[in-house]
Amino acid sequence: MPLDTATLTTDVLVVGSGAAGLSAALSAASGGASVVLADRSLIGRSGATIMAQMTVAAALGEEEPDHWEHHLADTLAAGRGLCDADLARLVCEQGPDEIRRLDGWRVGWARRPDGTIRQAQAPGHDRPRCVYVDFLSTGPAVAKTLRAQVIRQAGVTRIGDLCIVDLALHDGAVVGAVGFSLADGRPVVIEAAAVVLATGGLTRLYQRNSASANMGGDGHALALRAGAELMDMEFVQFFPIGHLAPRLVGMDPIMWDPFRYKLGGRLLNAEGREFMRDYGHEEQGRYNAPRDQATHAILSEVKAGRGSPSGGAFLSFRHVGADALRAAFGPVIDRLADNGIDLTTTSVEVAPIAHYHMGGVRVDSDLETRVPNLFAAGEIVAGANGANRLSGNAITEALVFGRRAGEAAARRAATAAARPSIGRVEALALINATSGREDKATGAIAALQTVMTTYVGPFRTGAGLARALEAIGNLKDALGDGPPGEPGPYAQARLDWFDLRAMLLAAEAVARAALARCESRGAHQRDDHPQTDDDWALHQTIAFSGDDKSLDALILGRARVVGAQAAPEPVQ
Ligand SMILES: Cc1cc2nc3c(=O)[nH]c(=O)nc-3n(C[C@H](O)[C@H](O)[C@H](O)COP(=O)(O)OP(=O)(O)OC[C@H]3O[C@@H](n4cnc5c(N)ncnc54)[C@H](O)[C@@H]3O)c2cc1C
Repeated sequence: MPLDTATLTTDVLVVGSGAAGLSAALSAASGGASVVLADRSLIGRSGATIMAQMTVAAALGEEEPDHWEHHLADTLAAGRGLCDADLARLVCEQGPDEIRRLDGWRVGWARRPDGTIRQAQAPGHDRPRCVYVDFLSTGPAVAKTLRAQVIRQAGVTRIGDLCIVDLALHDGAVVGAVGFSLADGRPVVIEAAAVVLATGGLTRLYQRNSASANMGGDGHALALRAGAELMDMEFVQFFPIGHLAPRLVGMDPIMWDPFRYKLGGRLLNAEGREFMRDYGHEEQGRYNAPRDQATHAILSEVKAGRGSPSGGAFLSFRHVGADALRAAFGPVIDRLADNGIDLTTTSVEVAPIAHYHMGGVRVDSDLETRVPNLFAAGEIVAGANGANRLSGNAITEALVFGRRAGEAAARRAATAAARPSIGRVEALALINATSGREDKATGAIAALQTVMTTYVGPFRTGAGLARALEAIGNLKDALGDGPPGEPGPYAQARLDWFDLRAMLLAAEAVARAALARCESRGAHQRDDHPQTDDDWALHQTIAFSGDDKSLDALILGRARVVGAQAAPEPVQ
């Protein structure tokens, strides 16, 4: 028997409570709107934000003189000609305000004895620009600080364990959303004058990823089905030095990065030789190769038969010395020892791992999609990072876009005419459906991850991408016409079904765009088209062509790149 539907009404619904969602909820509520902040997990404690360990980029000029235009120039250069320059400018220009606001809320940015904020130089930045908290705690500190502000902010209703599965539309405009409570399976309808999607990225599409299980492209699927466009979907960033071997328990696979650029960890091939200079990077003890190029170099060594035993490269700190290692790694050195890793004698093996997505929902500079009342913020937004993201730009992007999207959504709610109530939403039938079907989704998710890793990873070919699309099409059979079992508490197989439904759409969009882009640029490398082609200096968009919401009905389009791709030299 269907469970009773819970219905809520609010001015602004924010879906997702990472840095972008928390910021959006805060700014919408301080703009006078009532806000529902919903997350499929615990509020402010899931997604990528809480996992981010390293740094946040902003031209504060505390370590050495800086200007946001220098940051913009680096961001545009890293984006390989594909940044939406308006969005990139917003991130760089407004980033410092967000960092100082968090500082005022006592996030705890690391400081020098004289009180200035410490800034590290991360790969691709022309100077020290990246703030951090302490050993591996930057993301958790940002999330905790924003969470505390949201708790204090009047007008925000926080609802965890609520998985949003579809947006509701009236006359082509978004009027709310539908989801279900994971705790009891109950359907939940939220009527809202504006909705902000802040659901993060899609790297769960890959077998080896740095993500949480909640990052399977839910928001991309929600946006597509509501009529929004996605853009630059082919650009999935692989983090070059994800941990590969030996076994490492209780630590994040991308933990090596800050230590590498602090200490100059050496990347070696199976011959014990540093190889980055073979690919045009004279590292000289500094770790400054952008992520797309380091990924390319490591995988090229593996392909040439010079990889480490587990299929990556060696990362060695053996030249650094025990005291310097302890000083830099702090308590982390003990955690490594618990795993049997002694960096004075052992090299670890590292390899690229799916980490971030540059593509996503297409928005304007108010973060609104082409669907009225539908906004997006954070990693789900396309454009600010073009074909390759600079280290530290993602949290800045989440903070800046979250704030702007929340403000714009609150303005929309304030001027909204009489609100139509949500009529019949198809997803409610799916949420309530009961069936004796066997669970095929759980296995299909694993199969999809294998397909994406094999054919839509860092190196791609036309033939491989065509096989991926065929396999994705076949996997949709696992969906049948509804979820297995019946609604109830923490019904994992049903959640997997809804996850697969979103993941297939997101995967199809990535593979379609990758097959069409016949060149190599940034994070998209085609073995069969190894050169960057000026004619491809354009965005690819993807959207449904009409009411048909099947995978086959997705259509690709092309759009001009916004703004000059080089920033003017700032006045010193
Ligand atoms: C391990 C790791 C380390 C990183 N380190 C750094 C770093 O040092 N510096 C940096 O700048 N960037 C870093 N990044 C990237 C950065 O953390 C993210 O890009 C950024 O935090 C994204 O923030 P967000 O708010 O957009 O999304 P997230 O923080 O991912 O939040 C998305 C939220 O949406 C929720 N959600 C998803 N789908 C639904 C749904 N259907 N219904 C309800 N809720 C939903 C999720 O549960 C989640 O809580 C790192 C990423 C990872 C994975």
